[in-house]
Amino acid sequence: MARELTGQAFKVCLIESGGIRYDGRTQALARGELAGDFGFPLDETRVRGFGGTTAIWQGACRPLDAFDFEPHDWVPFSGWPFGRSVLDPYYARAQAVCEIGPPTYELQDWEESDAQRLPLDPRWINTHVFQISPPTRFARAYRQAIFSAPNITTLLYANVLDIETTDNARVATAVRIGTLSGTRFRVGARFFVLAVGGVEAPRLLLASNRQNAKGLGQEHDLVGRFFMDHPRLESAVLHLDDAPARMRLYSVHASQRVAPPTAIEGFLSIASETLAKERMVRCAFQVPPHWRSYPEFHSKGVMALRQIGWAIRARHIPYQWPHRLRTVLAGARAVALTGLRRLGEARTSRAEFVLTACGEQSPNPESRVVLGSTRDQFGAPQARLDWQLSEIDLRSIRRANEILASAVEAAGIGHVTSLIDSNGKSRKLRSGFHHMGTTRMHRDPTQGVVDPDCRVFGMANLFIAGSATFPTGGYANPTLTIIALALRLADHIRDQLCNGPPVNIC
Ligand SMILES: Cc1cc2nc3c(=O)[nH]c(=O)nc-3n(C[C@H](O)[C@H](O)[C@H](O)COP(=O)(O)OP(=O)(O)OC[C@H]3O[C@@H](n4cnc5c(N)ncnc54)[C@H](O)[C@@H]3O)c2cc1C
Repeated sequence: MARELTGQAFKVCLIESGGIRYDGRTQALARGELAGDFGFPLDETRVRGFGGTTAIWQGACRPLDAFDFEPHDWVPFSGWPFGRSVLDPYYARAQAVCEIGPPTYELQDWEESDAQRLPLDPRWINTHVFQISPPTRFARAYRQAIFSAPNITTLLYANVLDIETTDNARVATAVRIGTLSGTRFRVGARFFVLAVGGVEAPRLLLASNRQNAKGLGQEHDLVGRFFMDHPRLESAVLHLDDAPARMRLYSVHASQRVAPPTAIEGFLSIASETLAKERMVRCAFQVPPHWRSYPEFHSKGVMALRQIGWAIRARHIPYQWPHRLRTVLAGARAVALTGLRRLGEARTSRAEFVLTACGEQSPNPESRVVLGSTRDQFGAPQARLDWQLSEIDLRSIRRANEILASAVEAAGIGHVTSLIDSNGKSRKLRSGFHHMGTTRMHRDPTQGVVDPDCRVFGMANLFIAGSATFPTGGYANPTLTIIALALRLADHIRDQLCNGPPVNIC
């Protein structure tokens, strides 16, 4: 958003908790309490630093489908206040921000003679394409543009502690800032945008409780509710009769259909016609490299090694590196096995593929972020996350397995065996690290925290950017949609500042 607003006649102040380099004390501010099914420490799933979590993201990009924006009578609280066409122009601009190819996700635009879809009945299973960003590290790619813009001031190591408002809590007047060295100050503005992630946004709204004890935007007790992530699970094995010739489209590869070649990856997705008939939420299958499908790949040791690798690739000192190194050493067996499998894979010609089910989570008001009892370095309550899946979420993954199995058998190209037991779970359920829904968007203030312009209901000048505003999250990774919404919000704020009525801050 800051980059979009460079060169304007108004001033922008970008307030960032971290610095350019990883900083352990700042990163610790992302800590939180966990309850429920969520198994991953919060401070390991978000990066406190300039450029945010794009320092470690993997770059998988796909817009939500038109189907994801529609209300579905079998999914409570589903439906966006607008359709996909409203975001189309912004998705096109977001592609460039993520340094990926043209804004088409039509399969025929990406298929090549040696990368063709599996011949499955399209009423049951469709092949979907993701484009894979280099991945763009936003801090590196866009720092220069932001730092050199005369109308943008960037404050690093500046933590927003809470939002001050007029007495009636209708207009934000300033944010209160604290640094870990003890400095305190305020920044006032005409418009405020919280772009702090799906856990921190509700935490800040709830913690801003001076004028209204309930917090901001909390008139209808919705702030922090409807937390959604993308449940992931190794759910099935696909056995193919003629595998190597069939599966190139489903591995990350450079497509030569566009210039310059763009990295893409195919997924097997349950068709919308079947979703409606079966009353399911979305589910798609990724076909990861075989060495990633063993339980050891998801062990603590391998995860710690991957985290060290992500940090080094982003040219950061790894967060809590002594602890992570100890975790790698303690998990040396799993690390070695995974390494050996990875090396051996190039030499094996596979006929079996362990599929990762990437599910949608339906909106659930009991799945939520609240203020916890532990305090951070500023004495403010940390977030407490209670991630709750619903029956439909796990049923949909189970049923998706069965539908894929029927489609593969009907096509006569192999068979599918399920890895899910009768309780609906197999290997450990994982999260996609996608924090969505906690300040959901709606037309009706009794059903959402922000309006379709991402403005907090009841507040004249406080906006939210990020996946916290998603009413539903489909199955695709969220960042391309986050960027599309941020570009739309940047346009809206530019328009308000240049053409809109003045905001009354008295
Ligand atoms: C390992 C991993 C892999 C991922 N891979 C993918 C992928 O392949 N595709 C995809 O689409 N998504 C992926 N994601 C998710 C993606 O990283 C997030 O969706 C995206 O970064 C969210 O953007 P954001 O700007 O909303 O939040 P963030 O990127 O987290 O940025 C929030 C910013 O706010 C700052 N901040 C927070 N609190 C405060 C405060 N109180 N005061 C001041 N500043 C504050 C932070 O320092 C940070 O700069 C991945 C995530 C992880 C962890």
